[in-house]
Amino acid sequence: MTIHTVVMIPGDGIGPEVTAAAERVLKAADAPVRFIERHAGIAALDRGENDVLPLSTVDAIREHGVALKGPCTTPIGGGFGSVNVALRKKLSLYASIRPVRSLPGVKTRFENVDLVIVRENTEGLYSGIENQITDDVVVSMKVATRDSCERIARWAFRYAVHRGRNKVTAFHKANIMKLSDGLFINEAKKVYEEEYPNIKYEEVIIDAACMRLVTDPTQFDMLLCENLYGDIISDLCAGLVGGLGCTPGANIGDVDAVFEAVHGSAPDIAGQDKANPLAVIMSAAMMLNHIGTTRKDTAALESAGRVRDAYNLALTEGQKTRDLGGELSCSGFADAVIDRLKTATAPVGN
Ligand code: ATP
Repeated sequence: MTIHTVVMIPGDGIGPEVTAAAERVLKAADAPVRFIERHAGIAALDRGENDVLPLSTVDAIREHGVALKGPCTTPIGGGFGSVNVALRKKLSLYASIRPVRSLPGVKTRFENVDLVIVRENTEGLYSGIENQITDDVVVSMKVATRDSCERIARWAFRYAVHRGRNKVTAFHKANIMKLSDGLFINEAKKVYEEEYPNIKYEEVIIDAACMRLVTDPTQFDMLLCENLYGDIISDLCAGLVGGLGCTPGANIGDVDAVFEAVHGSAPDIAGQDKANPLAVIMSAAMMLNHIGTTRKDTAALESAGRVRDAYNLALTEGQKTRDLGGELSCSGFADAVIDRLKTATAPVGN
């Protein structure tokens, strides 16, 4: 059996607790991976590194191709820039994939939510280009390049075909940002018309899209978003299925992939064993699926299936953390999933 080396980045705030929980679950599931720990964020500075994103961390991901990452705190209004964003740009992890599905035993306003957010991860207002024009005027640049708009659209349509999904909806505000959002939807439409005419395609203005999402999310399938809309829509959609504790994610490039939950470092509950580790456990299952698919490793695919069955079973049996209305601690939920691994079956795939 091949053992795959995965870079583990615990991150800040609740990161170390939730990633430790996921690591325990993967070990109990006999996942064919071995973790090597590297640091990023304030955690890196605390360990004597002189950068929030040390080169040793980036190089380790380049060497091994896959990482499981906890959140890194981003200071508001000043201080260093986002480590999460810097890592995505450095490794050209241009596609952020965030599946949003109703979970068994987690009661929300809607049933049968099954969405996939595809977020462009490298440009838009995340360019970080801000200029102080005068004391009273600041300009932030929204960057859109034809190549990036085209490649994220192609990624979304290709994913739709591979996963048997029916429709891609591009969210935009091209009525106001005629050039940047205009380029985004024009490239998406071109990819649809020229390469994927059999997948349905629609364009919806972002404000109307938000209203439609909270009215009836089942009318959507895959949501194609530029960077900032994808960020905001991810949290909105998390709210449709139980919150930030249960929304996983992947940042994927042509070479490397970094798996991380949608949530941030949640400093208000850090270090108290209160956080929900489910989103990171789900991200870890996505990671196993990615390893299994890209490296053609059935053992990885099977362990992904075991992990998914085990957390679904735990939720079905009412094993939940406090954010979902349960009583369990972070480590307690990991224990509950590990207990269910003994009874879970192992379907292959996602
Ligand atoms: P950051 O600055 O790193 O983005 P944040 O606190 O601003 O952190 P999030 O961490 O995304 O933003 O979350 C907002 C709130 O949602 C948290 O303060 C916390 O109360 C709750 N939350 C987020 N993730 C979880 C989780 N895994 N389990 C339980 N509650 C969570």
